[in-house]
Amino acid sequence: MSAPYLADGLPIPLATELDRPFWDGLRQERLLLQRCRACHRFQWGPEWICHRCQNFDLAYIEVPPEGRIYSYQRVWHPVHPALRTQGPYLIALIEIPHADNVRMVGNLLGDPRQAVAIGAEVEGVFEQHAEAEPPFALLQWQLV
Ligand SMILES: [Zn+2]
Repeated sequence: MSAPYLADGLPIPLATELDRPFWDGLRQERLLLQRCRACHRFQWGPEWICHRCQNFDLAYIEVPPEGRIYSYQRVWHPVHPALRTQGPYLIALIEIPHADNVRMVGNLLGDPRQAVAIGAEVEGVFEQHAEAEPPFALLQWQLV
């Protein structure tokens, strides 16, 4: 558990029928990603159909919250009023080797002015928002 990376006041994620297992997993500090039961390949974000084989039989599988930085952006311009006093901050695109190298968006924790190396190894940090209504969790990333 960690303090929120971004300022209070941002819209909170609301799970849908499609992505509820992912959000519920984060609340339990588990990373669950979508994998096809027919071709056994992961895909992200969640879809009703497998991108590769067009099968509708998809499942959520737990994978270790470990990845590497595929790309990132250091954001200086506030994209929401709640972030008016927050710049800069780091958005990272994280590749997940344990899940066919699917890529997920998150924040890179630590000094927002730190040097960021493409390919650096990171681990997931489950950011709990237990007081929110409804409660939710986010998956953030930090260098290993
Ligand atoms: Zn498939």
